[in-house]
Amino acid sequence: MPADVPDGYDVLVLGGGSGGYACALRSAQLGLRVALIERDKLGGTCLHRGCIPTKALLHAAEVADTARDGARFGVNSSVASIDMPAVLRYQQGVVSRLHKGLQGLVSAATIDYFPGVGEVTSPTTIRLGDTTLTGRNLVLATGSRARSLPGLEIGGRVLTSDEALTLDVVPGSVIVLGGGVIGVEFASVFRSFGASVTIVEALPRLVPAEEESISKALERAFRKRGIVSRTGARFAGVTQDESGVTVSLEDGSTLSAEFLLVAVGRGPVSEGMGFESAGVVTDRGFVPTDDRRRTNVPGVYAVGDLVPGLQLAHRGFAHGIFVAEEIAGLAPEPVLDRNIPKVTYCDPEIASVGLTEAAARAAYGEVRSYEYNLGGNGKSQILGTAGFVTVVRAVDGPVVGIHMIGARMGEQIGEAQLVVGWDAMPEDVAPLLHAHPTQNEALGEAHLALAGKPLHAHA
Ligand SMILES: Cc1cc2nc3c(=O)[nH]c(=O)nc-3n(C[C@H](O)[C@H](O)[C@H](O)COP(=O)(O)OP(=O)(O)OC[C@H]3O[C@@H](n4cnc5c(N)ncnc54)[C@H](O)[C@@H]3O)c2cc1C
Repeated sequence: MPADVPDGYDVLVLGGGSGGYACALRSAQLGLRVALIERDKLGGTCLHRGCIPTKALLHAAEVADTARDGARFGVNSSVASIDMPAVLRYQQGVVSRLHKGLQGLVSAATIDYFPGVGEVTSPTTIRLGDTTLTGRNLVLATGSRARSLPGLEIGGRVLTSDEALTLDVVPGSVIVLGGGVIGVEFASVFRSFGASVTIVEALPRLVPAEEESISKALERAFRKRGIVSRTGARFAGVTQDESGVTVSLEDGSTLSAEFLLVAVGRGPVSEGMGFESAGVVTDRGFVPTDDRRRTNVPGVYAVGDLVPGLQLAHRGFAHGIFVAEEIAGLAPEPVLDRNIPKVTYCDPEIASVGLTEAAARAAYGEVRSYEYNLGGNGKSQILGTAGFVTVVRAVDGPVVGIHMIGARMGEQIGEAQLVVGWDAMPEDVAPLLHAHPTQNEALGEAHLALAGKPLHAHA
């Protein structure tokens, strides 16, 4: 039961997703009086409709691929069938265990948790049904939702990631509209489960936010897996009947499949929540902030996907922690998008942190980069994966970007983000040992090469 706080809270947090609950937990640790308002399930998109359920599907997909490819390693195995209801039970088991754990954390902390829809009524108040909560500071953490295109209605055989996560059949064929992170992850899952998959992307390449060489490598790997990529192709319209969808493209061609997955990005959740009446400026629904996550209204902060920029759960966590510490007067270091690590969990995986080579050149003038091919990495050969690690440094300066592709390369992001985040020089990393045989050695080898002392690589 929420405590009686007649003189108001220190912090009112609207939205219990990654950004909001992290802010509430850290606020409570710091002794602030905090209320957390959530209209749906604690944990938000990441736990219930995002990171966790998708990665469970991707793991099941990896199991299917491993079984299908067994003979390559001398193990004769095959995939008899994909039991989608069983896959969904496994996925939901993971989600519900984590949900229980999170509920336990929040109820053990001194947080007043209010289930319900909150509406901001002033810079210091949120209305929740008949109750009005008062706080010295407001933290807007209402997150994002799947977006569509004008005239493209979701429903029936036209899905967003929300519906795709609960699909209890393996489709024979899927068109994925959008070759960004969410699109390529689902394309990878559907293909591993046996569907034929076509990705339609308006820009010239898949995962356009990544280094260009990574996009090329992904397209090549997907082609080998039988995933068709139609890049530079613009969507014109879709029709559907009881057996499937027909998508027309602006170039006049048409594609047919059982389902269309719309993965064209995520828009803000902010409409009708009273932000404007509190004087908070929005930009197409997003809430712009400065580096200290302050909106234009003193005492009102915004965190997570609601703030323009990278839409990632760990960015939300970091924003939430930052704002709690800021309110507590700890003057924390701002959380900037530039060095936020990113992983795309398709097969092959993509992991990157820092600047692409082009962005580094724009920022530093001359740069030096080294691409270490996984062909020379023992563990990658054992796994049978192709890919590379590219390390970008300012000339005679620190490492400013690391870009990786290959099976399981997401696991290498930990060291990569320390190197970039600590402005390490390749010469600082070169003497550190990387255990053999691991894929982690590829990262070590790239730094050795950039430091002028390559081992299993040509100079
Ligand atoms: C398919 C998919 C896969 C993803 N995979 C990854 C991944 O692998 N790694 C990663 O880092 N990120 C991933 N993300 C992104 C990640 O889920 C988001 O970045 C993260 O959830 C953002 O957190 P948030 O707190 O800003 O918003 P949300 O998690 O969206 O939380 C906002 C919360 O606010 C609540 N709310 C909204 N309005 C009100 C109101 N008026 N009153 C009360 N409550 C309200 C909502 O119910 C919701 O629970 C993925 C997203 C999707 C869709």
